[in-house]
Amino acid sequence: MNYRELFAIDAPGLAVPAFGSLKDDDYLAAIRQGMEEKKTALDALAAETAAPTAEILEVWERSGRLLERAEMCFYTLKDSDSNERLDEIDAILAPELSRFSDSIWLDAKLYSRFTALDSAVKNGEVQLSAEQAWLLSEILRGFRRAGVELDAEGRERLGELNARIASLESEFSNKVVAGRVAAAVHIENESELAGLNEEQIAQAREAADRRGWDGWALELVNTTGQPLLDSLDVRATRKRLFEASVMRGREGENDTRPVLLELAKLRDEKAKLLGFEHYAAYVASDGCVKTTEKVMELLGQVAEPSIRAAEREASELRELFAELEPGEEFQAWDWQWTAAKAREASPVPTDEQLAPYLPFEQVLEQGVFAAAGALYGLEFVRREVEGYTEDCRAYEVARDGQVIGLVFFDPYARPTKGGGAWMTQLVMQDELDSELPIVTNNCNLTKPTAGKPALMTWDQVQTLFHEFGHDLHGLLSRVRYPSLSGTNTPTDFVEYPSQVNEIWAWEPTLIARYARHWESGEPLPDEWISALAASKQVGAGYAAAETYSAMLLDQAWHQGAELPDIDGIDAFEKAALQRFKVDYPLVPPRYRTCYFTHIWGHGYAAGYYSYLFSEVLDADTAAWFGENGGLKRENGQVFREKVLSRGNSRDVLESFGDLRGREADAKYLLERRALV
Ligand SMILES: [Zn+2]
Repeated sequence: MNYRELFAIDAPGLAVPAFGSLKDDDYLAAIRQGMEEKKTALDALAAETAAPTAEILEVWERSGRLLERAEMCFYTLKDSDSNERLDEIDAILAPELSRFSDSIWLDAKLYSRFTALDSAVKNGEVQLSAEQAWLLSEILRGFRRAGVELDAEGRERLGELNARIASLESEFSNKVVAGRVAAAVHIENESELAGLNEEQIAQAREAADRRGWDGWALELVNTTGQPLLDSLDVRATRKRLFEASVMRGREGENDTRPVLLELAKLRDEKAKLLGFEHYAAYVASDGCVKTTEKVMELLGQVAEPSIRAAEREASELRELFAELEPGEEFQAWDWQWTAAKAREASPVPTDEQLAPYLPFEQVLEQGVFAAAGALYGLEFVRREVEGYTEDCRAYEVARDGQVIGLVFFDPYARPTKGGGAWMTQLVMQDELDSELPIVTNNCNLTKPTAGKPALMTWDQVQTLFHEFGHDLHGLLSRVRYPSLSGTNTPTDFVEYPSQVNEIWAWEPTLIARYARHWESGEPLPDEWISALAASKQVGAGYAAAETYSAMLLDQAWHQGAELPDIDGIDAFEKAALQRFKVDYPLVPPRYRTCYFTHIWGHGYAAGYYSYLFSEVLDADTAAWFGENGGLKRENGQVFREKVLSRGNSRDVLESFGDLRGREADAKYLLERRALV
């Protein structure tokens, strides 16, 4: 098979990978061929002896073309429509890709070509463009973070640490899932379920059946807060469910405590080996915030106001609770239930009421595309192009009559698809070889039956705008090098453009276009629109307090503090929350230590704050749009020019500074979330 051709390598302009001609095993073969090609090119580069020029940056950027393209296509397909063979291929590739990556980043000879170029630049022998200089600094940073400067002993230890950390992370993830399942609450008497609707009771019944229990089982979700706490009228049941949630992860086979303590210890060792004070500093240095001091300063600005706002909400809820449950003290397990009762009295329309007004295609074309048209002058034309799933629909994207890229939408849920919504980039924009970007947008809408459109919830509309914000970041990129293109930005920046795009879901002129009844064509009633807008800030204090305290907890575990033993974990957590002034038992952290999968199982260790920083940038930018007249082409032009088009071709905070003329200010976020 000619994989370079099938994956549209060396094809300038708009070139779509030939999904229809690729079988599952072709992805495995193409990725392996890609690794070989990259290795051959970089070995040749490492072996050169002549003084390096800027040319080596281009060799570096071109070397991984097939590998990266095939990987992007493979993971896009696997996440949207997996099967046993694709899962097997994933398992086969994981260790191969990890070994391959080490073989590049720990290659001292290869590294020396780039340090030689760096010296030549500093001596004035070689001149680089600003983007080339930034690329070089990013490459050098990558080598150092991987440990290329360590001696043989250090590298060996680092290898051991990486392998052990990876296996502990997956062990933690597995135990958390098993622990969540095991923590379900067993209910023997139906009267204890008062308040649940028929469907919820039937689900609890099925869950009990699966376990071979009599009666009912109340199953848990990942977060501390449990959706069922909204409706359970029996206080004792609420208390049991809440306690099962916060006490997870401490028993028998599912005890996560030894795993997380070892992880905290080994990550600290790794960071120190690489010359950092602690793991939080190692992670921060890879983000745009850059230092732990800045991370803590940022969290400090929002943490206390969020607790104050939660206290204000608590005092209102306490009053209502005193009417509903006279004589009882308002507790953490009463919060959601009382808040739900308060909501019942408000005029916010339900998902069922809203759905007929939100047909997918109308929201997409009259809302999401219309916003991008008004801001960036983009036009979207449906094209018959084979995608990675049967449901994929492609739109060619043009600006001022010129094609700039392509976007695939894969809107519908299927059993073989991951949950939630996400975007991917199949082809990165670059001027090096004149490649145009191809991005994807994946949701989980219920597939419509014949003659009916797919209808959305209000949340799904926000999410569609959000994911399309990532798409715009990819589509509007205008850089020379693919590794700096589009969404290839630091973790604490990457959610910024997508969050900004959510603003337009709330734009009245757009709502009037995209939210119309699919049968009658009637617009959404005005009083619903204002009720929705007003509901944005309801419960904002609770949401902020639980999130920011979890972010601080993440920092506490990764800042090199003396670690407790297994029985001291709760005390460690409590002391950290007190130190950061977010110890508020009515609102426990969104994840407590023993089931905090983001930081112990996934890639957000010491980086859970990233969501906050992106939101600070987003709220500040929303204010900028507001000050300048909102949804109009001039504003889109400036935002595209200064932020979206730049990708990671310079320090991303320089892009923000260019837009605002100053550093980001958290006050806009505090205002928007009604925390002041
Ligand atoms: Zn996102």
